[in-house]
Amino acid sequence: MRDLNELASYCKNYDCVMLKDEPLKNHTTFRIGGCCNALIVISNVKALQKLVVFCNENKIPWMVLGNGSNVLVSDSGYDGVIFQLGKSFSKIQMQSETLISCESGALLSAAGHFALDKSLTGMECLSGIPGTIGGALYMNAGAYGSDMSNVVVSAEFIYESGNIKTITKEEMELGYRKSIFSGTRCIITKIILKLEKGKYSDIKDEMDSLMRQRRAKQPLELPSAGSTFKRPVGNYASFLIDQCGLKGASVGDAQVSTKHAGFVVNTGHATCANVLELCDFVIETVKEKTGYELELEPIIIK
Ligand SMILES: Cc1cc2nc3c(=O)[nH]c(=O)nc-3n(C[C@H](O)[C@H](O)[C@H](O)COP(=O)(O)OP(=O)(O)OC[C@H]3O[C@@H](n4cnc5c(N)ncnc54)[C@H](O)[C@@H]3O)c2cc1C
Repeated sequence: MRDLNELASYCKNYDCVMLKDEPLKNHTTFRIGGCCNALIVISNVKALQKLVVFCNENKIPWMVLGNGSNVLVSDSGYDGVIFQLGKSFSKIQMQSETLISCESGALLSAAGHFALDKSLTGMECLSGIPGTIGGALYMNAGAYGSDMSNVVVSAEFIYESGNIKTITKEEMELGYRKSIFSGTRCIITKIILKLEKGKYSDIKDEMDSLMRQRRAKQPLELPSAGSTFKRPVGNYASFLIDQCGLKGASVGDAQVSTKHAGFVVNTGHATCANVLELCDFVIETVKEKTGYELELEPIIIK
């Protein structure tokens, strides 16, 4: 790819690390995926704006990645640049008594523990989701009856053009696993959360109890992207898949988890092709036997 050397010197000037020909399987919870041309670990908003503009001007394809916990990357990888918003872009701080400001690379677990330390309630249901707060807002992640719409107040983001803007929750069109950001390349950079004052021990008990439930029900010991199928209206994907006798079905090292039918797991060296073939089989079988049409939840990167 052209201009990677110039991009590398930009990264150096703005304190961002650039990794050339980086295997994306090292950056996804599925542990699947070929290489991208370059992965840039973003350290600040200014750098991100400059890099977006540089890539646009030089027609270099780019996309943003958080913790890689809701993506399936193709075996041939991504022909372009990945901006990774993670550890080095993850400051969390109090903005007022009940408002918390998070850089978008902060993990939900970190935001949850920060809130716990301040005895603030509202993050308990979300803190076990293994994504960044930016990735969570992008798709309005949720669990145990709550989702990001219950805690977000406003967000700052960068348009594809590199310009920056702040919007309020009301403007975000938050719905089941979707937001105004879904399907766009706007990059969420900062999120303000509004929580309530609570009691430390109650918050901790609730977080611990929900984490125990996750460990008991989900195959957390194996790589996956979480729930592989969206919840169809009026039913649950895992219930339908189980009913069709598909637990344990496999293609290569991709398997419908024997612990939770809604998860496809990587039992060793599964490829993206294995996962997609297995998912097609699950979708066809469920459609044939129950009439429900399942849809993939993870974002496919190719
Ligand atoms: C074991 C396991 C359990 C899970 N449980 C749940 C659950 O209970 N509930 C749930 O909702 N999800 C769950 N997930 C899925 C996943 O953790 C969430 O969807 C999470 O919000 C994804 O965040 P991420 O940072 O990993 O995003 P990524 O996977 O890195 O990216 C997902 C999408 O978001 C975009 N994106 C990421 N960051 C930004 C940003 N800053 N700005 C704009 N776009 C961005 C990416 O471009 C991509 O399109 C689970 C996953 C696993 C592996």
